[in-house]
Amino acid sequence: MSLPLSDDDKFHEECGVLGVWNAKDAAALVALGLHALQHRGQEASGIVAMGEGGQFRTHKGLGLVGDIFGDAKVMAGLPGRAAVGHNRYATTGETAIRNVQPLFADFEFGGFAVAHNGNLTNAAQLRRALVRRGCLFQSSTDSEVFVHLIAISLYSTVLDRLIDALKQVQGAYSLVALHNGALIGARDPLGVRPLVLGRLHDSWVLASETCALDIVGADFVRDVEPGEIVIIDDNGVQSVKPFTAAPERFCIFEYIYFARPDSVVEGTPVYDTRKRIGAELARESHVEADLVVPVPDSGVPAAMGYASEAGIPFELGIIRNHYVGRTFIEPTDQIRHLGVKLKHSANRPALEGKRVILVDDSIVRGTTSKKIVEMVRQAGAAEVHMRISSPPTTHSCYYGIDTPDRAHLLAAQNDVAAMAKLIGVDSLAFISLDGLYRALGRPGRNAANPGYCDACFTGDYAIPLTDWPANEEQRTKQLQASL
Ligand code: SF4
Repeated sequence: MSLPLSDDDKFHEECGVLGVWNAKDAAALVALGLHALQHRGQEASGIVAMGEGGQFRTHKGLGLVGDIFGDAKVMAGLPGRAAVGHNRYATTGETAIRNVQPLFADFEFGGFAVAHNGNLTNAAQLRRALVRRGCLFQSSTDSEVFVHLIAISLYSTVLDRLIDALKQVQGAYSLVALHNGALIGARDPLGVRPLVLGRLHDSWVLASETCALDIVGADFVRDVEPGEIVIIDDNGVQSVKPFTAAPERFCIFEYIYFARPDSVVEGTPVYDTRKRIGAELARESHVEADLVVPVPDSGVPAAMGYASEAGIPFELGIIRNHYVGRTFIEPTDQIRHLGVKLKHSANRPALEGKRVILVDDSIVRGTTSKKIVEMVRQAGAAEVHMRISSPPTTHSCYYGIDTPDRAHLLAAQNDVAAMAKLIGVDSLAFISLDGLYRALGRPGRNAANPGYCDACFTGDYAIPLTDWPANEEQRTKQLQASL
């Protein structure tokens, strides 16, 4: 079984999705795209391919995409010109092959496969109602409610059944679905999670991020819009918007950390945005220092922006070992403690005697930050200042990101001065919320209509948390009990 080696003190994107229509060996393109989306989920992957005569074939496994789909025999078993795929990082449902997506069901209209990125906030309530009606759930993932809602829908077309299902769910979803007439992509009305449309000659591709289009050589066409359903068949792409329009709430954390830096998200290159966030951070929290050092890899673009704005040299003072596998040995407490040292090493000649500004994208529990600071001090740094390219993460995410409960979020329990002490730095500063919005081209955060989901920094949950108690304290207890 795969287990993360270190405590990897980050929020984790839950999933990546991909769909291909009208391509020779569609499953091979999906496997390549899933490989590019590996950062969105490393626990398991699956592909459902549709062959001649609407025959569906599935292959799923636990582990990394290359391990699951690297075997030519596996790919030969997934023939067809359309396929959908999914990478998973579990937050809902235990680790088990039955929870690996795409989910597939045989309906009266034929086979139907669906892959979901996001998290439904009324799935438990819907599931109870569906079970009372006699639906037999095969997995413990929230996404299975889509399948049962489609099964019991009284509408006749696949599209109408899907719309009927989507109108009953609450939460965040970007999904790709496949039946023998079409490939379908859909985003929730607030557009919390990303989904893009690309084109490769006569083929169409739907993917969580543009980096998956790049790897298969597809051109970016456009983002699927919030609340939009795209239906791709041999006549091209149709679009329907069956929901009442709502103010958009794209996940702001995609810009800070989740998306790959070479992706273009909602029309904005992630790499440039991260550099702008770093520059804004430098303007807000300048400190005299000799070096700006990124915490690799995710802190690199923000550190570049910080260094350039502050006029302080950028140096790779921490080297990341890329060959530490995620699967290693059972992480005993002792190994867990060593984790960060296996992953990161201090570049002693660069750090010795220097006043160092460490730039990272977030502090979640603070465990990794503490170890990195210790390591930099042991390498001889004269001062260690930490700058974070997100505001303090004070709340849990219920929209598809794996987060600890509030009791374990360092910023939920401590102010900045206390956090600085716990981590062991000479100074600590986070980008302000307004600063983050400025880096995204806005004048600041407009509380009445922020335009992004930023609930993990503000507690402003735009989608009801129906399955969770209204009271924050009870919600934390429930989340704790479910972990
Ligand atoms: S709560 Fe945070 S991580 Fe979750 S969707 Fe909103 S911004 Fe993204």
